[in-house]
Amino acid sequence: LRRRRIFERCPMATQIEIVRTVADLRTRVRTWQREGENIAMVPTMGAIHKGHMSLVRQAKQLADHTIASIFVNPLQFGPGEDFEAYPRGEARDAALLADAGADLLFVPDGREMYPEGFATTVHVAGLTEGLCGASRPDHFDGVATVVAKLLLQCLPDIAVFGEKDYQQLLVIKRMVRDLNIPVEIVGGAIVREPDGLALSSRNTYLSSDERETAPLLHTTLQQAAHEVASGLALEPTLESAHAALEAAGFRVDYLEARDPVTLVPLSGNVSSARILVAAFLGKTRLIDNVTVPPQS
Ligand code: AMP
Repeated sequence: LRRRRIFERCPMATQIEIVRTVADLRTRVRTWQREGENIAMVPTMGAIHKGHMSLVRQAKQLADHTIASIFVNPLQFGPGEDFEAYPRGEARDAALLADAGADLLFVPDGREMYPEGFATTVHVAGLTEGLCGASRPDHFDGVATVVAKLLLQCLPDIAVFGEKDYQQLLVIKRMVRDLNIPVEIVGGAIVREPDGLALSSRNTYLSSDERETAPLLHTTLQQAAHEVASGLALEPTLESAHAALEAAGFRVDYLEARDPVTLVPLSGNVSSARILVAAFLGKTRLIDNVTVPPQS
């Protein structure tokens, strides 16, 4: 039974091995590690798009084997958020992850991740307190707890997380250092639609009118990044960016410039920063961020 491996066929073209238990995951990982091969992991919540696929491609460049995971983590959704509505579709997701080059897919269910009596929370102080942490109070505890578990279940050499969730990336790096989890955390660049909108599983919630407005989020951030890089102070720049977004129909949750490494709030004139935004279009909350100086 210990040797049992679960092979499942996807109805679409590409096939991938799927494991659903920590025991099966570890058996597979141990086999590779015994052969001296290293492993990269890409955790996701499914609803796979080209952003996730680019992380898998990046992981593939960094290690001999790439494991993707899909788990819609209830702990990181607040009351009234979209846990139930979050898009799910394992067969499609598995085919896309296989196309991107993943070798193995880990799909635990809720009971495998949080068996009865589960009582542990991982809390990263400081970094989680502003930005998304301010309006989603338990979100990063949920993220840190599930990512700590996924990393410890798999013990990959490398794990790749997107810069799209920039605060999350820094929280995970901090947690891994603080808990001595022996995994190197690597950031992956944000993948965007041709009009600049960052790919997100939640973009499917946008109405066609909202979808037309959505790219303004990135355009406005990029313009602000150019202005700050050319010597304008942060406060007036962010104030007019905020006003432009609200005028276009966004309800801005936050729009801030932070130190790219520590996330300490910045003000005045700066030569290096990360500008981060969260804004609602209708009921959909979009997040994005850009560097100062801007990348293009
Ligand atoms: P999610 O499934 O939304 O939890 O995301 C799984 C991983 O994909 C996280 O590390 C995200 O930061 C990353 N990700 C999501 N969207 C993008 C994107 N547009 N570009 C790059 N990475 C992304």
